[in-house]
Amino acid sequence: MFGYAGKILHVDLDTGKSSVEEIDEGYCRKYIGGNGFGIRLLYDHAPPGVDPLGPENPLIFAVGPLAGTTAPTSGKYVVHTRSPLTGFQGEAVSSGFWGIALKQAGYDAVVIKGKSEKPVYIFIDDDVFSIRDANALWGKDALETLELIREEIGDDNVRSASIGPGGENLVRYANITNDRHRQAGRTGVGAVMGSKNLKAVTVRGTGSVTVADMEGTLDHCKELYDVCQSPLTGAYRSLGTQVSVMIHQNQAALPTRNWQDSVFEFAEKIGGEYIHPRWVVKTLACAGCPIGCDHVTLVSEDEEGKVMASVEFESLYALGSNCCIGHFPDVNKAVDLCDRLGIDSISTGVTIGWAMECHEKGLLTKEDTDGIDLRFGNAEAQRQVIEMIAYQKGKLGKMLAKGSKAASEELGEGSEKWAMHNKGLEYPGYDLRGLKLSALGFNTSNRGGCHLRNSGYDYDLKGKVDRFTAKEEYGALVMGRDDLYSITDSLMLCKFSRGVLDDYEKFVKIYNLVTGFDMTEEEMRMAGERIWNLEKAYNVREGWKEEDDYPAPRIMKDPITSGVAKGHLVTKEEFRMMHKAYFKERGWSSEGIPTRKKLNQLGLGWIADEIHKEAD
Ligand code: SF4
Repeated sequence: MFGYAGKILHVDLDTGKSSVEEIDEGYCRKYIGGNGFGIRLLYDHAPPGVDPLGPENPLIFAVGPLAGTTAPTSGKYVVHTRSPLTGFQGEAVSSGFWGIALKQAGYDAVVIKGKSEKPVYIFIDDDVFSIRDANALWGKDALETLELIREEIGDDNVRSASIGPGGENLVRYANITNDRHRQAGRTGVGAVMGSKNLKAVTVRGTGSVTVADMEGTLDHCKELYDVCQSPLTGAYRSLGTQVSVMIHQNQAALPTRNWQDSVFEFAEKIGGEYIHPRWVVKTLACAGCPIGCDHVTLVSEDEEGKVMASVEFESLYALGSNCCIGHFPDVNKAVDLCDRLGIDSISTGVTIGWAMECHEKGLLTKEDTDGIDLRFGNAEAQRQVIEMIAYQKGKLGKMLAKGSKAASEELGEGSEKWAMHNKGLEYPGYDLRGLKLSALGFNTSNRGGCHLRNSGYDYDLKGKVDRFTAKEEYGALVMGRDDLYSITDSLMLCKFSRGVLDDYEKFVKIYNLVTGFDMTEEEMRMAGERIWNLEKAYNVREGWKEEDDYPAPRIMKDPITSGVAKGHLVTKEEFRMMHKAYFKERGWSSEGIPTRKKLNQLGLGWIADEIHKEAD
């Protein structure tokens, strides 16, 4: 096959053995790659009800069919597993160079099961597979680990995806780091890796990826590169995602003090326009990306102690405004700490924000916090708690390492009302009370509170819809975006290639040039719908219920307090109306379960019996 490697590597850490499975054109056309391969492999290899931190839970890495070709921004990889944070589909995407290395080594995916007796790392050296001792690496931070493995192998070109202490200590939102500044950040995939005593997956890929129509692909990619460098992606190139701080602030959509406010008094001081002239020292790009959105910051020795970090908007929100920390060098330090310790900065910041509000309301006293003054705005306290979480130190560290949902259930006393998550996944930095299309899109995401499954915010924030009015028609809009983004994440394209590779016509053109297939736009759209339905079916199998999609109580009860969105919230009735409309558009039951008819239509009839105890 062209584009695809046509092979999946299976690794059993119980026995140390590996095997290779070949895949055919039919499989590729149905599931495309990346996210599609990941969810199909998860469905097939995770026993129903599997303990997320038990050896039987598979950890799956997958890349897309365009990885290793000249298609821009196509080198991402995705990790699938049953999430220890949500109990549902765990899924996290990362950029960088690791994904291309895996394809060049000859694989479209790796499925890892079992648990090693001792710390190890996997080395995929083209077609030679080995498991190596990682005793000396255990306890090292995620960034140091990447360097130590390069030194041990003696090759600067090996690429590793590694966990830090957070993953080793089973923090439920631990991440996986590659290429220093890139993380598969969400849903706790790093904790699953730690539960297997697996410190890293290292790849050396020296092969090449062949395409069906070399000349056609090159010509087309030249055009795509020009679009990548046009004004369409200008904001990402000039200020990166840091630009979003002031955009959200001006729309009263920047969650502040654990979503008690939506306008942050120090927003300007953590916004891209302020950060850039002072601290941005270089811009980095992932493999094959002409956009280069990663604006790396360096706070000098004289200022606050030398710290270099890659600070995205989501970290500026979660560790900045959400914890009321408005001094950029403090946010920079907190991001660096999370990255080194290998924990997701969004879940970390939102969980600490929840704890700060508990402290403010007298539910967490200094006795509970080991003497730490956990008030909003205390950056030193935030750093101490980040360390406690990563090492599960003390009662507080252990509680917060479970994430805001489980921590609030443990503490009780009404604190569940200000735990800002959906299905256990902490929300990103979009105040949904004044973004009603996004409220539907974020909360129906199969991996929990997430902005990356349909980009509903693009419609709300750019005024393409009336963001303050809930409408039934949002059901169809969100469904269409879900399915489209299922393909983006299966071709493993960057979301920042908006305007470049962002509709079925464009997807099909590059896909057919690379693979030589004759995929139609409708076939591709249906693949997106199939992938979304399979994810949903997985969640239903693991116990999903309609009410799991409802927004966090604060979104439905406490109106926004100031700014242009003052007074807005999403009532339960509004959400229910949009939710039912969404189910109807999807052809699901009125309780949101994919029907037999829909599953059959999508070629997923083989799972119908498992998720339907009774006939529809
Ligand atoms: S736009 Fe940014 S995240 Fe996306 S591929 Fe390019 S550098 Fe990587």
